[in-house]
Amino acid sequence: MKPFIDLKAQYLNIKDEILEIINEILESSHYILGENVRKFEDEVKSYLGVKKAIGVASGTDALHLALKALDIGKGDEVITTPFTFFATVEAITYVGAKPVFVDIDSRTYNIDADKIEEKITPRTKAIIPVHIFGCPANMEKIIEIARKYGLKIIEDAAQAFGAKIGDRKVGSIGDIGCFSFYPSKNLGCFGDGGMVVTNNEDLADKIRILRNHGSPGRYIHNTVGLNSRLDEIQAGILRVKIKYIDHYNELRRKKAAVYTKYLSDAVITPDEPTNVYHVFHLYSIRSDRREKIMETLQKHGIPSVVYYPIPMHLQGALKSLSHKEGDFPVAEKISKEIFSLPLYPELAEEEIFQISQIILRCLQENYS
Ligand SMILES: *Cc1c(COP(=O)(O)O)cnc(C)c1O
Repeated sequence: MKPFIDLKAQYLNIKDEILEIINEILESSHYILGENVRKFEDEVKSYLGVKKAIGVASGTDALHLALKALDIGKGDEVITTPFTFFATVEAITYVGAKPVFVDIDSRTYNIDADKIEEKITPRTKAIIPVHIFGCPANMEKIIEIARKYGLKIIEDAAQAFGAKIGDRKVGSIGDIGCFSFYPSKNLGCFGDGGMVVTNNEDLADKIRILRNHGSPGRYIHNTVGLNSRLDEIQAGILRVKIKYIDHYNELRRKKAAVYTKYLSDAVITPDEPTNVYHVFHLYSIRSDRREKIMETLQKHGIPSVVYYPIPMHLQGALKSLSHKEGDFPVAEKISKEIFSLPLYPELAEEEIFQISQIILRCLQENYS
């Protein structure tokens, strides 16, 4: 079986730099909250064009800390998408707030901004748009709604480091932006890691204290926080990789375009709204013959994965919200048709051609 994402190919290309920085950190014996975390936070600030960046232990913690910093809790409602990775919703439940879902747009698979307003109640405190698969959500409309109703915006940019709307990078557009550096993300480390970014200094100060046991100074605790720090080795690895992120994203876009060229007449290929820079964390296509195509690919040693087969409102863990099939028809339909093909910066174009040919042949045979 070929890899779905070839993390080793990427490592081998930057191996010397990675080993050098890891060795430096090991020799320094400074493993938690040292100069690499500080420098990586500075590099993220200048890359995204934000005032503050705080390294944390994961993308899930980034969301949890963002909600805590905004004092969102019991009795509050947070609007988000049912078509995401579970962590988005998990974080809302961590603070005791209620996730309120809004169906998605059938082309970008992001929250349908035109359906947000009808879900707003006096208890609504925030909106969490997710830039799914690396495609920015409709932030212009979401900001307009947030202003009108006095809501906060937390961007879940876990899949979209470097994605843009115009020349604004996602994560820098709402009140708080949250990133994940899980190894398979488009900017990934070699373990768990995350980042919270904001232009609001008070929120940044709060998050900085909350990530370290609510401690503003040694053995002083004014609030209860988390143990959620990005560690030095992961920060060091990310300092090497962030230098190449624009190059990696460009390669992802180029390879996505090759797939689209071959496949757009046979399946539903990803959309890129005007003025948007999609970073293709995943290359996801739709077909009503998904199972057949996936099975055929599998037979040829090509992996493909369904992101995501069950929308959030139908997850067992969220039974208490009493949702049922039919509540979010677009998300449900897309979960039944969508699947992702191998895509990573080092993937050969010849390979994309072959994968596409297998899909096209499979669909032709299926017709006759
Ligand atoms: C990966 C991911 C997260 C969680 O990030 P972790 O670093 O794995 O905790 C949150 N939201 C989305 C959309 C993700 O893809």
